[in-house]
Amino acid sequence: MLDADFFRRWMTATAASVDREAERLTALDSPIGDADHGSNLQRGFHAVTAVLEKEAPATPGAVLVLAGRQLISTVGGASGPLYGTLLRRTGKALGEDAEVSEGQFADAFRAGVDAVMALGGAAPGDKTMIDALIPAVDALGDGFGAARAAAEEGALATTPLQARKGRASYLGERSIGHQDPGATSSSLLVAALAEANG
Ligand code: ADP
Ligand code: MG
Ligand code: MG
Repeated sequence: MLDADFFRRWMTATAASVDREAERLTALDSPIGDADHGSNLQRGFHAVTAVLEKEAPATPGAVLVLAGRQLISTVGGASGPLYGTLLRRTGKALGEDAEVSEGQFADAFRAGVDAVMALGGAAPGDKTMIDALIPAVDALGDGFGAARAAAEEGALATTPLQARKGRASYLGERSIGHQDPGATSSSLLVAALAEANG
């Protein structure tokens, strides 16, 4: 079973991973974006870990709702509202249980990813974070390690795609040949689940 502490560790591990990879995320956002993805997420996840430490929510759902709200209010870019919605909707779907099963989390995370698609209008294959999140959701039934591998593979597979949503879509065919920064950060978020578990 997964308790509030697990979800706090998930957010802390994501923040640490974003810190380690911030330069790479910003470099990926340079040819097909505005070179701010690493700094956007660093600002956001630092604020998330700070507010979770201060308020210490007691349930998994409350941890993720608070984290999502914090991302929405601190990240200016497209990724803030999208990641914020992902976590907030996942948290809402978890309800008020003090502990949730991995299966409950998988269902809730799918609801969160669906909300991201509804908000941003992206479908699989549009070269966005969705291309890492959907494979992860589909693999979650096989555990966090399988989800991590699926997300990493999904992020790598964005390279030959043409972007159809977000800033990179303005480049049309010139977006081909570059890995999507948001799909890459999504693979970090999913990888952090395995770290929080271990
Ligand atoms: P901005 O483009 O505003 O500078 P970021 O650089 O922080 O924001 O995030 C860019 C990432 O956001 C993209 O690489 C892509 O994965 C994701 N993204 C952008 N628009 C959408 C959308 N409509 N749906 C899903 N993901 C999106
Ligand atoms: Mg950007
Ligand atoms: Mg920007």
